[in-house]
Amino acid sequence: AKAQLFDKDNDRKVTFKDVAGLSEAKQEVEEIVAFLKNPEKYTELGGKIPKGALLVGPPGTGKTLLAKAVAGEADVPFFSLSGSDFVEMFVGVGASRVRDLFRQAKEKSPCIVFIDEIDAVGRARGKNANMNSNDERENTLNQLLTEMDGFGSNSGVIILAATNRADILDKALLRAGRFDRQISVELPDLNERKEIFGVHLRPIKIDESVDAEFMARQTPGFSGADIANVCNEAALIAARGGKKFVQKDDFMNAVDRIVGGLEKRTMITT
Ligand code: ATP
Repeated sequence: AKAQLFDKDNDRKVTFKDVAGLSEAKQEVEEIVAFLKNPEKYTELGGKIPKGALLVGPPGTGKTLLAKAVAGEADVPFFSLSGSDFVEMFVGVGASRVRDLFRQAKEKSPCIVFIDEIDAVGRARGKNANMNSNDERENTLNQLLTEMDGFGSNSGVIILAATNRADILDKALLRAGRFDRQISVELPDLNERKEIFGVHLRPIKIDESVDAEFMARQTPGFSGADIANVCNEAALIAARGGKKFVQKDDFMNAVDRIVGGLEKRTMITT
């Protein structure tokens, strides 16, 4: 099996316009866009372009979206894989996928390599070291470290990785010349939720009783992904009821559903 490379739903370029809120994170990744677009400007004076950055924050806050937007803004290819894909792998497969990915990335440079859930491979080594799957995870991690060290910092490949647990990562990953920059991607506040609703209400035929401000107030604690879900769910509920427009009560039903899901999620994890 080949590593899944180009973005699955890359029919349209993702840009910063698609990413609502996250103004600080966007500012930080803007620098990466600048590196990708015009590397000479930065290397002429002897500087080294960073190899990678770690996007840290809770699930569904837009880390993947932001990484895609960096590629979209710089107009470069986006390669991605998820750490969780490696968990159940046969010996040698994880490492060879990582090798494959970087070989292709180098050919297509400048480009972005995105590693989602890097904690699945990048957890600190040495715990349960007698388990086979763990050995394989370590092999994969070692290959990743080798690849990161192997290409020059001015190769045009920039690696973005995402995690919700930077604290459990192997320190080797965070060393200078690897993921030495962390960008925090937090849950949205009221204003940011309003902005995110702004993005996700856009394609939906809403009744005039519904607006982004109102919805933002109904959804404390929701992530961007939860908000996208609410909007979609509300549209489906309204359609099921044969409506021409999505109304406030459809949104409130959708919120209830998502809150139900959130409660289940926290009951399982706590
Ligand atoms: P995970 O940690 O679970 O992989 P993530 O942080 O990578 O999550 P995304 O996959 O980027 O989150 O977000 C899922 C979807 O939620 C996005 O495709 C988008 O539709 C919506 N979304 C999340 N955050 C934002 C945001 N800041 N602005 C607009 N949409 C958002």
